[in-house]
Amino acid sequence: AKASGKNDIRSFTPELAEKARERLSLETDLRYAMQRQELQLYYQPIIDLQTLQTIGHEALLRWIHPERGFIPPDRFIPVAEESGLITALGAWVIHEACRQNAEWQRAGRRAVRVAVNISMIQFATSNFVDTVKSALHESGLGVEWLELEVTESVVMHDVKMVTERLTELRELGVRVSIDDFGTGYSSLKYLQELPIDTLKIDRSFVNTIQKDAQEAPLVKTIILMAQSLGLNVIAEGVETIFQQEYLQSLGCSEAQGYYFSRPLPASQL
Ligand code: C2E
Ligand code: CA
Ligand code: CA
Ligand code: CA
Repeated sequence: AKASGKNDIRSFTPELAEKARERLSLETDLRYAMQRQELQLYYQPIIDLQTLQTIGHEALLRWIHPERGFIPPDRFIPVAEESGLITALGAWVIHEACRQNAEWQRAGRRAVRVAVNISMIQFATSNFVDTVKSALHESGLGVEWLELEVTESVVMHDVKMVTERLTELRELGVRVSIDDFGTGYSSLKYLQELPIDTLKIDRSFVNTIQKDAQEAPLVKTIILMAQSLGLNVIAEGVETIFQQEYLQSLGCSEAQGYYFSRPLPASQL
């Protein structure tokens, strides 16, 4: 206890106490945010690089707090994960994304996929697949239009659980992509064995595609690898036409990024 004495004192500095208070109030507010309809899904188009048509949207959560204004998901998703709120929040996101997509299809729009981000904690819960089924059932959305995005770290978390879960989803017919690919430590062996459909190349790699830097070897390698594994590949964070053309020349099938469109509210799509 003596050894940690120093740390105990440090943990009561006003700064850290303020941080803890801030986190708690964020958590409390998040509990009500869903009921108060402060949460909204924005959608970023996913572009087919051969036709340049939109073939899907990634749903991205937005929280407009009545006093604090816009709070980015990178700030409140970790709070939701630590407090357990992520299960209810994540279920809401899946239901809302399916509902919106089905509504667009019923209104006569050309059918496109919707991609939903899934947190590791949400993915690991035992009733996760039931949540997916109920969202599809309630919305009436065809299963082929739903894609789930899990990060690479999820995949390496608990290989047995993840394999079981992914197999269930595959049997259901839901597509799964590995998000932020290249930032984790996936073993090629698992990548080959897991029932996944898509690799999403992380923005940090796409960012290395620059006019003056002749080559982007990692981007090239990931695309070649995805192709040889028979996986679809989406480049994230495309911001310039140069990046688009480079990716097209490598045979990358899909892309998203500010160059095509920022994430937008449903009403502006
Ligand atoms: P992500 O899944 O990697 O989402 C991509 C992020 O990159 C989004 O940030 C998007 O707005 C941003 N982005 C897209 N194109 C560009 C570009 O060309 N340039 C730059 N600089 N950025 C671009 P956002 O919406 O702030 O989301 C951040 C992260 O929060 C997401 O990263 C995801 O991990 C998480 N997140 C968002 N919505 C949800 C959700 O519904 N559930 C879960 N579990 N996580 C979510
Ligand atoms: Ca994502
Ligand atoms: Ca990503
Ligand atoms: Ca990310």
